[in-house]
Amino acid sequence: MILILKKNHTNDQKNHLLDSIKALGGEVKTLNVQDHLIFAFEQNLSLDFLAFTAVQKVISTHNELKKTSRDAKKESTVIKIKDYELGPGRFLVISGPCSIESEDQALRLALQAKKAGAHVFRGGAFKPRTSPYTFQGLGHAGLEILSLVKKETGLAVVTEVLDVRDVEAICEVTDIIQIGSRNMQNFPLLKEAGKLDKPVLLKRGLAATIEEWLHAAEYIMNCGNEEVILCERGIRSFDQETRNFLDLTAIPIVNKKSHLPVIVDPSHALGRPDLIEPMTKAAMAVGAHGVMIEIHDHPETALSDGFQALLPIQLENIIYQLKKMGAALDIYLP
Ligand code: PEP
Ligand code: MN
Repeated sequence: MILILKKNHTNDQKNHLLDSIKALGGEVKTLNVQDHLIFAFEQNLSLDFLAFTAVQKVISTHNELKKTSRDAKKESTVIKIKDYELGPGRFLVISGPCSIESEDQALRLALQAKKAGAHVFRGGAFKPRTSPYTFQGLGHAGLEILSLVKKETGLAVVTEVLDVRDVEAICEVTDIIQIGSRNMQNFPLLKEAGKLDKPVLLKRGLAATIEEWLHAAEYIMNCGNEEVILCERGIRSFDQETRNFLDLTAIPIVNKKSHLPVIVDPSHALGRPDLIEPMTKAAMAVGAHGVMIEIHDHPETALSDGFQALLPIQLENIIYQLKKMGAALDIYLP
């Protein structure tokens, strides 16, 4: 920890600071730079240094990301999802409708996603909708459909949890539990997910910084669950051309800062199907370990997010191109 003291601090203010640090076992080294007195010490003390009148600036030399950072673990984390692995040198495609609408719709789309080459099926049973008057998902009936889809197609499934009370029921069905953008800082939910023996797909918050996103992952890992998959899904911005702003810069930044796998959701980031192909290719190019893409065979009658859904044939075409691109980049797409 490095503290830069104000030029005009009094002796009393300085001694109060010094005594407080020493009282907690801090061993202070001092230095004078351009009339500033500087305190440096190794210990990570729980004092609010900026609340001391003598202190002008605090530079923390401790990495607060105790579990998610590359300082904590050098090797990249690889997460097993049924027959596949998510991590460096591989690329997985998660696909399915925004919402589970019926047994027929879910089965039909899961078979089409599988035929297109997707590795994991997605489908919302509990939907976090902006308006309470729009389709809220089939809830527990949707989970039963997901369970049937798993049995019939052999695909692993991912679905979102909105409420701590539903975690157990969702876990009985799903292979990956999703915490959506709106819940990235729902700390009770993060802690509950941290107790699970199941990968958690953690979406970046609507307006969250990368540090806040990693701190949310830290909540999950700190409760014992090491299997966190980060998902960039776009952040709020001023431009209305796309639903959100797809921050692809976050991918190489996260890969530098953290050992956790990171994927991209171009569907919610862009909110329009025509940009999904180029941005999915871009996601692979910048080091994402997979994508999550919404599909529907009748987008015009979809109960949610039809406007951004790709047709299954378009997904198939993208996966075909990703395989060729992956071969050139030495990235394996099973
Ligand atoms: C979703 O994936 O269905 C979803 C609601 O996404 P987000 O949390 O990114 O809005
Ligand atoms: Mn959606």
